[in-house]
Amino acid sequence: MTTHHSSGTVGGPAIAQERRLVTSIPGPLSRELLARKEEAVAAGVGVALPVHVTAAGGGILVDADGNQLIDLGSGIAVTTVGNSAPRVVDAVSAQVAAFTHTCFMVTPYDGYVRVAEELNRLTPGTHAKRTALFNSGAEAVENAVKIARTHTGRQAVAVFDHAYHGRTNLTMAMTSKNMPYKHGFGPFAPEVYRAPVSYPFRDSGIDGPTAARRATELIEKQVGAKNLAAIVIEPIQGEGGFIEPAPGFLPALAAWCQERGVVFVADEVQTGFARTGDLFAVDHEGVVPDLIVTAKGIAGGLPLSAVTGRAEIMDAPHVGGLGGTYGGNPLACAAALAVIETIESDGLVDRARTIGKTMTERLTALQDRDPRIGDVRGRGAMIAIELVRPGTTEPDADLTRRVAAAAHAQGLVVLSCGTWGNVLRFLPPLSIPDHLLLEALDVLDRVFGES
Ligand code: PMP
Repeated sequence: MTTHHSSGTVGGPAIAQERRLVTSIPGPLSRELLARKEEAVAAGVGVALPVHVTAAGGGILVDADGNQLIDLGSGIAVTTVGNSAPRVVDAVSAQVAAFTHTCFMVTPYDGYVRVAEELNRLTPGTHAKRTALFNSGAEAVENAVKIARTHTGRQAVAVFDHAYHGRTNLTMAMTSKNMPYKHGFGPFAPEVYRAPVSYPFRDSGIDGPTAARRATELIEKQVGAKNLAAIVIEPIQGEGGFIEPAPGFLPALAAWCQERGVVFVADEVQTGFARTGDLFAVDHEGVVPDLIVTAKGIAGGLPLSAVTGRAEIMDAPHVGGLGGTYGGNPLACAAALAVIETIESDGLVDRARTIGKTMTERLTALQDRDPRIGDVRGRGAMIAIELVRPGTTEPDADLTRRVAAAAHAQGLVVLSCGTWGNVLRFLPPLSIPDHLLLEALDVLDRVFGES
């Protein structure tokens, strides 16, 4: 393994960009923390890989036992610019020393307004826009629905099969998968309706516009466009399995919404901020949503989310109708401005495309040798493989669990997802050096050979 030093930790020692295993995974100190976690933390809060992280940067997570793992998860698509990315560290350090909080609704400050200006500039479309800031993805999705309802005077919201929008009451209703997100947590919010999505691996032969018609006809019949405030959709579904709809699906849905005064909301919580090799995933087909919801990658790990969209829609709620104590916290805003500067100055949209090309080539070659890989899909640094029984589309969740566990044991942080739990997803930070990405793909190759 070659040793590269990254500048991923300003002020602290640089983390050698190498995978290094000095104990089994998890090591003794990680296991100690896990035992304390089980005593202190509610059982409902699960962990995918119980390593006790002490530092991170570039493409590496360091654990308490001295192991170094290759990060193909980015904390679920959050540390897109890298963990403790230098500009983020500097900006947040300066802000924390200046002031930590005033509450924007009490006494405003520049950082919030600048983030709003930047989002209005960067999101698709040249129309007049406004932005409101929140803390989590779910909170922003809820606010997008509130805004769409006040603008249209309608109540119904349409979402899709395999959708994930969060864990609050309204967003649980909007999320499709019962276990683990909804089971036992009802009753759920009313006026949420679910339509079929375009899932090329499982509905092959149905093109994008046809799949869109299938969805909108169902909505017309079961809800009625005149009752519909919004369609909310992830341009590439995340937790549901990195499902990329067939070309033409999103443009047809957006056009249907526009003709009927329905607010078209893109949930770009997971896909936004360079992740997919476009600044936003809707850019891929030139779709301009009425509202766009962002979070995760927006602020390099600090909690921030946003709703951005057409001024006349965003301005519909009455003064005081939107807000929250921490929404647009000064530290998170400082981080977001540093993230945006990093994406633009370091050419990270192109970097995501390069990473996507490397991963797709290697995973397609693996698929050619291993018929258990039914599909390789996704864009940019958001790539997944769907695991099935060879020659069928029957999901193989068991194999997925085995491969993920074997990868973890080899010091590779991979996540699974999908309605059937049979999708392995790869979300490397865009700060990952090439040699680590290639090594991660080598490890995966080996793990598949042995699983
Ligand atoms: N929407 C999408 C598309 C997501 O992927 C997520 C998080 N996985 C959310 C909403 C919810 O975001 P948060 O966990 O920040 O509430």
